[in-house]
Amino acid sequence: MNIQSKLPNVGTTIFSVMSALANKHNAINLSQGFPNFDCPEALKQMVNKHLQEGKNQYVPMAGVPALRQRLVDKIDRMTGHSINPDTEITITAGATQALFTAIATFVSAGDEVILIEPAYDCYRPAIEVVGGIPIAYELVAPDYTINWQEIKNLVTEKTKMIIINTPHNPIGKTLKASDLKALEDLTKGTDILVLSDEVYEHLIYDGANHQSVLRYPELFKRSLAVYSFGKTFHNTGWKIGYIVAPDYLMKEFRKVHQFNVFSVNSFVQYGIADFLEDPESYLTLPNFYQQKRDFFGKTMEGSRLQPSSSEGTYFQLFDYSNISDEADTDFAKRLTIEHGVASIPVSVFYTSGRQDKMIRLCFAKTEDLLESAGKLLREI
Ligand code: PMP
Ligand code: GLN
Repeated sequence: MNIQSKLPNVGTTIFSVMSALANKHNAINLSQGFPNFDCPEALKQMVNKHLQEGKNQYVPMAGVPALRQRLVDKIDRMTGHSINPDTEITITAGATQALFTAIATFVSAGDEVILIEPAYDCYRPAIEVVGGIPIAYELVAPDYTINWQEIKNLVTEKTKMIIINTPHNPIGKTLKASDLKALEDLTKGTDILVLSDEVYEHLIYDGANHQSVLRYPELFKRSLAVYSFGKTFHNTGWKIGYIVAPDYLMKEFRKVHQFNVFSVNSFVQYGIADFLEDPESYLTLPNFYQQKRDFFGKTMEGSRLQPSSSEGTYFQLFDYSNISDEADTDFAKRLTIEHGVASIPVSVFYTSGRQDKMIRLCFAKTEDLLESAGKLLREI
């Protein structure tokens, strides 16, 4: 039978490819972003309690009310912004589903969506599958500074959406208040929506504040902000997240969400709602991961890999140009096979395949593993 692929250029994600290569060669896996330690015991017990007590049937489409209320309280505490739990927040099957559904809801064939590259890999296929046109704005190593005037120059009458990501995967930088102000000015008076990927909202270091779109009332009127419990509670496999948007946008989002997911698994939502009663778990996260970042930084001292600063996320970029001229995908493969450490080559996050000789390493790992990886990397 003759079928026409909607995504003819899409293969297996780099995360699956590099994790499989790490497993095959018994390498330390600092590629795909996930912790090598477990989520909190108390959270597992709370989830288990609801499973055992029979919270096993459909829950409301928007999510368990108690969970939405706890999240509204969290948002209020973190951003000072007050969200309506009934109309402005929806629990999703991870951030990926929230992003996909948001794009499918608002982007139509021929619409343009501005992406800031290097960009997390799920945005572009979601745009293309609905017939939208991704317009890439390239950030350049080592500073990766956004020039908002250049982004403004990409705006046309077809621009439907701009996607931002802060803290940023893979570069580990955060947007500042001036960036959000510039975005607010750029979109003022237009019909452009902002899709803001904020899954690393709590992984932010050196005392900085997370600059969420929720902090900017004018900007929020055109924004959808996406979050993931996987990053916050060290359980990437649970695939639960949420999306926050003003009611008129959320109303449209839910029309699509109810027919591709309806409701997300029940007992996990009840368990997370209980766990969120104590804000300690997320308030301590910046410190927890900052220590890991700093520990990893120390173990890498003396390596020929040159570190970029990581202001947020659990990733750090390293420049390998002192070691090799190879393309980053080749270098990352060789590093895995010959030196026993798996990484992610940054060129895969650029449509153009731009080569800045950078790899991404994940420091969401126990100190013994980071120490072992550092030892191997210092020897290269
Ligand atoms: N956005 C970014 C920037 C991510 O790094 C990730 C996953 N690591 C996601 C979205 C997807 O999150 P989830 O696993 O909750 O779908
Ligand atoms: N977001 C994770 C990363 O950046 C990977 C998620 C996935 O494997 N799809 O490494």
